Amino acid sequence: MPWDNSPAKRAQDARVYGDPEYKRNRALAIHRAGGRCEHLDGGKRCNSRDRISVDHIKAVSQGGTHHLDNLRVLCRHSRGPNGERTQGSRKAARCR
Ligand SMILES: [Zn+2]
Repeated sequence: MPWDNSPAKRAQDARVYGDPEYKRNRALAIHRAGGRCEHLDGGKRCNSRDRISVDHIKAVSQGGTHHLDNLRVLCRHSRGPNGERTQGSRKAARCR
């Protein structure tokens, strides 16, 4: 059920994104990426700075951690066709 939008899921998201480790590593991930999108498209890095945000490579709900290895910086385009997270929805579709 990848698009679970229930209140319980939203509460879980709030816990996930309020996690001190996530907050700390999110800043490190952005620093590591030079503030630019890390999405690779055909081996070429996107490098956009357009509304970047930090994404979990493996979703926390699927056992992903807040470790730097599981975080990447994506711009709004690389996050998916909708560009940005809409209210209550999970992160956009996987970068691909
Ligand atoms: Zn991008």
